[in-house]
Amino acid sequence: MKKIPLLILIFSQLIFALDISSTKVNNADTLFLKLEKKDIKNPKLTFDKHNIDFYKVPNKQNSYYALVPISYYKDFKKYKIIISYIENEKKVFKGIPIEVIDGKYESEVINVDSSKVTLSKKNKSRVIKEYNKAMKIYNTTSKELFINDKFIYPIESKITSDFGKKRVYNGSLKSYHSGTDFRARTPTPIKAVNDGKIVMSENRFYAGNSIVIDHGHGIYSGYYHLSKMYLKNNTIVKKGDIIGLSGSTGRVTGPHLHFSFRVHGIQVNPLQLMELLNNNFIY
Ligand SMILES: [Zn+2]
Repeated sequence: MKKIPLLILIFSQLIFALDISSTKVNNADTLFLKLEKKDIKNPKLTFDKHNIDFYKVPNKQNSYYALVPISYYKDFKKYKIIISYIENEKKVFKGIPIEVIDGKYESEVINVDSSKVTLSKKNKSRVIKEYNKAMKIYNTTSKELFINDKFIYPIESKITSDFGKKRVYNGSLKSYHSGTDFRARTPTPIKAVNDGKIVMSENRFYAGNSIVIDHGHGIYSGYYHLSKMYLKNNTIVKKGDIIGLSGSTGRVTGPHLHFSFRVHGIQVNPLQLMELLNNNFIY
């Protein structure tokens, strides 16, 4: 991906450099920002009332990065990212204009009998419980970054359903496909896409046997519908470690791997995020 040097301001012989991966971004994609500046403290940004910290780029001095995840449901319009930091005891602000554009995701029509769309009271309360528990995990930001090498795919296989497909159930738009589906005959070994820590390893109503890995700095990958989960919570994993076997657990029509990512609690396109991090980090 081409980097766009957005601002280079020279003042008092100090250089302020800011790179942004793109100023136009699809809904559900992630932006990468890099700030290079000496002698600053507390670099942060705000995007549409969402506060995000900059983190130090590993193995580099005076270099910070931030990820800005764009929600699938974000309005297509212009926004401003406000960057701030403290320099010489003073707070400095910079505004960066960006535009969220339509990712033009395809639609898929799903016809299922209504008993599968309407949940029983018991299942509904289970789903809500699981959702709240998961969101608590995703909204936790580990200060430590586990990744120090490029991401790999969880499985070498054909993609059977892309991220972001609009899902029209019995004629009405209900949701979108929240991950990327890979063809995976049961039981195919599934790999950790990068280093991290297991923060979820449990059976869920929709997702079946689910593993979530915390990669640090608010980045989480998820692996669903597994037939076997090999690792328990708090296990440290290395890139390429086999975390489980693919399957068809949960609410699915057949075996496959549903693979997803969240950044700062927001669901994003997993393949775009991995490519973005692979291209922008100097590992
Ligand atoms: Zn899926």
